[in-house]
Amino acid sequence: MEDDFSRILLERGEIERRVRALAREIADCYDGAHTRLTLAPILSGSLIFVSDLIRELPLKMKLSLVHISTYPGQTTQPGSPRVIVGPTGDIANRDVLIIDDILDTGRTLSRVQAMIRAQGPASVRTAVLLRKPGKARGVEADFVGFDIDDEFVVGYGLDYGDLYRNYPHIALLRPELIR
Ligand code: 5GP
Ligand code: MG
Repeated sequence: MEDDFSRILLERGEIERRVRALAREIADCYDGAHTRLTLAPILSGSLIFVSDLIRELPLKMKLSLVHISTYPGQTTQPGSPRVIVGPTGDIANRDVLIIDDILDTGRTLSRVQAMIRAQGPASVRTAVLLRKPGKARGVEADFVGFDIDDEFVVGYGLDYGDLYRNYPHIALLRPELIR
């Protein structure tokens, strides 16, 4: 697997530190005594991020799963986001925090935000691990881990053709592997 990457962009330790800091920002925003917090991770890309993040959040919370497929098959060109599952559970009157791996054009997030808002939550906020600046139109994230350049990245949950999600760092694929 290691041979497939041209460069590591973010090392595991750096991601870990940033996720811990992000958890503190989120915990400060939601007053633990009053919120009815539900985290809504967008699968599959946010799987690793959300599992690390929630264990750093000392708040009572529920999970509502949303499964969206953006890239049909092996490609780096996003198709339209297709809803596969969710949001699961009852999110009416809950403080919902949507979690995604990366904010690129914002199409996925705006779709999910609309689906969630339609169910009458008390509030909706969004946290993303990565953001490619300047590309998203009309969609914002309240919490952002890292701003990165407009390059296709994998690892720490992010895939190419459903591969590399288990790679612990965030890396760039060798260009000859990308179609
Ligand atoms: P958007 O709808 O904002 O254009 O794209 C968001 C989704 O596309 C993310 O949830 C993620 O699944 C996928 N995506 C966008 N950029 C990248 C990238 O650089 N690498 C990978 N692996 N997925 C990406
Ligand atoms: Mg995704």
